[in-house]
Amino acid sequence: MDLGIRGKRALVCAGSKGLGRGCAEALAAAGVDLVLNARGAEALAETAAAIRAAHGVAVTEVAADITSDTGRAQVLAAAGAVDILVTNAGGPPPGLWSDWGREDFLRALDANMLTPIALMTALLPAMMQRGWGRVVNITSQSVKAPIAQLGLSNAARAGLTGYVAGTARQVAPQGVTINNLLPGIHATDRADALDRGVAAAQGITLEAARAARAATIPARRYGTAAEFGAMCAFLCSTQAGFIVGQNILLDGGATNSTL
Ligand code: NAP
Repeated sequence: MDLGIRGKRALVCAGSKGLGRGCAEALAAAGVDLVLNARGAEALAETAAAIRAAHGVAVTEVAADITSDTGRAQVLAAAGAVDILVTNAGGPPPGLWSDWGREDFLRALDANMLTPIALMTALLPAMMQRGWGRVVNITSQSVKAPIAQLGLSNAARAGLTGYVAGTARQVAPQGVTINNLLPGIHATDRADALDRGVAAAQGITLEAARAARAATIPARRYGTAAEFGAMCAFLCSTQAGFIVGQNILLDGGATNSTL
């Protein structure tokens, strides 16, 4: 399917690896030029080179922490007026409710709620002026089915979800859509880190921890970054202009609910 976005320009945050990279690759495959961000310059350069070689699009690299004021300013200066924004950042650490104090919450809110809000605040006006824009926020299945040990993530992402619910409806008249993509378990470094924690805590191998988690998913496997990216690119397509303010789960059926 031609997504109708060839020649557009996207900012993909936290996109050198994992789900962000999946989104960047799928947008590049649709002919979208990229401003690609991550903190580590080396992995970012490797990913950018691979995307240029595979898809022939322009990729501007910005090595910066998207959750810091200075990092965000650097990224926004390089991005200019983009047509498409994909927000993403690393997730907060797991733990127990009693582990977390105010500073932990402020860090989580900054990274996973206030950073995407700041990026939207900066980039929505130009999209609205041009009468076309797409925003996809990578959040988590924990928005619909909270994960007990991810309390910091549950809290920050719920806040972002509430913000998007209203804002998406305020910018839709100008041809701009905002939607959230909710990953369930996907095979990325983040999933590996969580599985390693479980393996260490339970004294089992990493493979055993992975197999146990995969068994909880009706699809009986982890999702892939390519599948995730394909959905992101579709939400950024011309065809997706009537999808507004939605929270779309990609979880292999793990969240057991109907509505
Ligand atoms: P990942 O494989 O660890 O990749 C994270 C990417 O983000 C890397 O490119 C990393 O590069 C970059 N990054 C992290 N923090 C950053 C920052 N502060 N500024 C700029 N770039 C940053 O993670 P993932 O699995 O793709 O997860 C992406 C998001 O989805 C996370 O918020 C995660 O919590 C959420 N999620 C993932 C899953 C899953 O199963 N994978 C499930 C639910 C939710 P650098 O380290 O070089 O910056």
